[in-house]
Amino acid sequence: MYDAIIVGAGPGGATAAAVMARAGLKPLLIDRDTFPRDKVCGDALSGKTVDVMKRLGMIEPLLATTQIDSWGVTFSGPYGDEAAIPFTKALDKPVAPGFVCDRVTFDKLVFEQAVEAGAEIWTEAQVTGLLRDGEKVVGVRVKREGEEVEVRAPITVGADGAYSVVVRELGMDQLDEGHYCAGLRWYWQGVTGFHELNHIEIHFVDESIPGYFWIFPMADGKANVGLGMLSSVIKKQDIKLKPLLRQLVEHPRFKERFANAEPIDSIKGWGLPLGSKPRQMAGDGWMLIGDAASLIDPFTGEGIGNAMVSAEKAAAWTQRAKESNDYSAAFLKGYQRETLDYLGNELKLSHAMQKLGRWKWLLNKVISKAARSQEVADAISMMFDDESERKKLVSPLFYMRLLTS
Ligand SMILES: Cc1cc2nc3c(=O)[nH]c(=O)nc-3n(C[C@H](O)[C@H](O)[C@H](O)COP(=O)(O)OP(=O)(O)OC[C@H]3O[C@@H](n4cnc5c(N)ncnc54)[C@H](O)[C@@H]3O)c2cc1C
Repeated sequence: MYDAIIVGAGPGGATAAAVMARAGLKPLLIDRDTFPRDKVCGDALSGKTVDVMKRLGMIEPLLATTQIDSWGVTFSGPYGDEAAIPFTKALDKPVAPGFVCDRVTFDKLVFEQAVEAGAEIWTEAQVTGLLRDGEKVVGVRVKREGEEVEVRAPITVGADGAYSVVVRELGMDQLDEGHYCAGLRWYWQGVTGFHELNHIEIHFVDESIPGYFWIFPMADGKANVGLGMLSSVIKKQDIKLKPLLRQLVEHPRFKERFANAEPIDSIKGWGLPLGSKPRQMAGDGWMLIGDAASLIDPFTGEGIGNAMVSAEKAAAWTQRAKESNDYSAAFLKGYQRETLDYLGNELKLSHAMQKLGRWKWLLNKVISKAARSQEVADAISMMFDDESERKKLVSPLFYMRLLTS
């Protein structure tokens, strides 16, 4: 009856369902929640997310919701230097290069694309297990309206996020702390001192390294404040993240900006499976996308764009599998190959950057140079737009030149 069952209707699953339904396929999209619903996140939509949204005609709906456009990023280093880096020099672009949009709003917007495209949708329906025929996945078990039902399709797409039941059922949920981050989000009202072009802010404060503290401006005077750190570091150094986040808000560098502000939510935490070690993404009758596939950028923590890119590709491979009547692991491996061809270099680069970020003096040097030299700030700015430029960030030559200039 269905061409695919998609487990999870976050940005990954909802995008996959919308693309499949627009292509004439019959997807069933299942989520345990009902929309709108919240998801702990920094709420920043990067250039990659904006590009996917342009491709899929989602920019107009985004502009019609409550969000703010963001034109750059301000970094601060461990010794207090600050560098404001624009995402682009073209400030007259019709669509901003980035946005900040709370996930209650954003996820509903993407979800509605799936509804409008005609995907069949079950909400408040919890997937509890996979159905198998030998090695092959042939559907899912779902708890819905108090009953457990079985539903079948030739492909099951795991889009159920960081704590994926599909991944668990496939036996791949062992946590690798070197490739997993813990993140906290804290909403505030009235934080002051933001850049006039709504820069998102990433602060490498002594206490937070090798993780980072963020302050992102939001619509209506709100702010998304948070902290992310590698789980292996948290464990090794026995770091208590919530007290650390409270401490950072009181830090001499930031406390003025919070003086007349107040928290409007409690601190909430969630996991970030990083793309420094993506999982096996396809097998007999199944594919994984987004966080379920462990595709979050290991340096920036960005995962929405990668979830949507992998969703587009999984939708295209569902169509190909249907046309070839081949749902085998050998065939669907093509999905993994294509997705990693597209994202792999960037993920490797970000992993290298994440490691460099542990060298405090180097981090500080780069940020202080960028703060003082327009040329260096411009060079880093170009790296947001151009992957070949970004490669320089992990080249020893770049740092040699920077340190001796
Ligand atoms: C603290 C923090 C900050 C972050 N900041 C950013 C940021 O600023 N920008 C950015 O791009 N990314 C950020 N990320 C990453 C981003 O949130 C994720 O990469 C993104 O949500 C992945 O989308 P997804 O669709 O794969 O999964 P999710 O958004 O997690 O969606 C999964 C869906 O599956 C459903 N589900 C789960 N289990 C079941 C089940 N058994 N049955 C049915 N449904 C189920 C859930 O209800 C949910 O709707 C951040 C993450 C964290 C934790």
